[in-house]
Amino acid sequence: MARLLERLSLRRRLFIGLFLSIATVLSIHTAIVYRHLMTALQEAGVVRDLSLLIAERILLNSLLPSLLAGLGLAALIAMLQIYPVVKLLRRLTTAAHAIASGRFNERVHTSRWAPYDFRLLAESFNLMASQLEQYALAQREHQRELQRRNELLEHLSVTDALTQVGNHRAFQEHLHAQISLACRREHHLCLMLIDVDHFKQYNDTFGHLHGDMVLREVARLITQNIRAYDFVARYGGEEFAVVLPETDIDTAHVVAERIRLVIESHPFPHRAVTISVGIAGWRPGVDSNALIQEADGALYEAKRSGRNRVCVAGPGGKHEEAA
Ligand code: GH3
Ligand code: MG
Ligand code: MG
Repeated sequence: MARLLERLSLRRRLFIGLFLSIATVLSIHTAIVYRHLMTALQEAGVVRDLSLLIAERILLNSLLPSLLAGLGLAALIAMLQIYPVVKLLRRLTTAAHAIASGRFNERVHTSRWAPYDFRLLAESFNLMASQLEQYALAQREHQRELQRRNELLEHLSVTDALTQVGNHRAFQEHLHAQISLACRREHHLCLMLIDVDHFKQYNDTFGHLHGDMVLREVARLITQNIRAYDFVARYGGEEFAVVLPETDIDTAHVVAERIRLVIESHPFPHRAVTISVGIAGWRPGVDSNALIQEADGALYEAKRSGRNRVCVAGPGGKHEEAA
């Protein structure tokens, strides 16, 4: 019995409850009418058998049909009264589930047949839902803004503000990662150090703002003349570093020479600008510091032997010049 009750929905419970109470009232009423009728017939001197016959006729032809009609009408009225409430409760349950699973735009539609207090409940629910929706939207916008700021901060932390290429930190991290990759995959890897020739003189003659413009332009020209997966960074001052993964020393030399020629022939505003380049090829066992040192040695050699040229670090620290 308890199990059966547990399974009954609110609508069924209300129907059964109402039906039973109306049936009880009508049955009691019928029994009272029947009893009054019997008493009246006996007081009128009608013999018992005839009284029973009359009572039975009245009961079957009049009281029973009106009892059934009354029950049917009661059930209909009960249904009309209860149905809007049950429907609203179902909608509320569905909407609550939707909101619990993050669909904050769910609303409950109220019927005008639903009782006033239930309509109020639905309106309050909708108000709560729209406030939750606004809160969720604000949260989402806030999160997007945080993400944008994080991305900007991340970009700023690895980008050189003047030239918009990688900064020194990004270069160190990238070189480290690329050496590990080259080691694992047994690939070639080259490092290029590029230094603007006589840049102090350029600054002194045309001013630092014009010097800054030259640095920006040099960074742009280098970027334009390398592959998408090569990495350029400002090593510091007027020096740039380029990491060339999966590149042997001959190819790196061709790339460096191309960059050198592009910069030499670029129409800078005041005078021609040239660069010197030092290249070092990575070999197993060489770490990032040693590779930088080798490229720096080659760059020094390019400066020493006259500037505007490319030097390659040879085995054992020897340098080959190529202009
Ligand atoms: P070299 O050919 O031997 O490389 O001579 P150089 O004059 O280029 O080298 P030096 O190291 O003597 O001078 C580098 C100059 O670069 C000095 C410094 O003022 C300038 N410099 C460094 N950073 C910046 C910068 O951000 N903007 C500008 N305009 N100049 C800078
Ligand atoms: Mg320098
Ligand atoms: Mg210089």
